[in-house]
Amino acid sequence: MEPKLEHYARPFREGLFAKQLCYMRCVRCGKAESYGTFSCSFCGCDAFLWHEASGRGALLSFITYHRSYEGLDTPYTIGLVELDEGPRLLARLEHNLFSGNDIVVAKILTQAPWIVFQHESVH
Ligand SMILES: [Zn+2]
Repeated sequence: MEPKLEHYARPFREGLFAKQLCYMRCVRCGKAESYGTFSCSFCGCDAFLWHEASGRGALLSFITYHRSYEGLDTPYTIGLVELDEGPRLLARLEHNLFSGNDIVVAKILTQAPWIVFQHESVH
């Protein structure tokens, strides 16, 4: 029986309700993984412990949408951020003035979008 994604994403979602950005760390090799991972991409182990991330990371890439999807006001920007702890995630950027390798910090909101990254200097 395939494990359900919900099982591997629930601690992440529950963390957001507590204004915490959480990630998984493999119990065997200690490498960090993004939420929703079924097995460690480094050693194959399927056991993880959850940790709270600092929220700080590097912006690897981003895209600005000028056409609305899901009713969002345009323009809006989605960024791929590599957290200092290692995992990568996609999230909204607070505004559209970003460049690659910017250092960003997560702001956890109480409703969607749950995570918004802003420049570290704004934090
Ligand atoms: Zn591992």
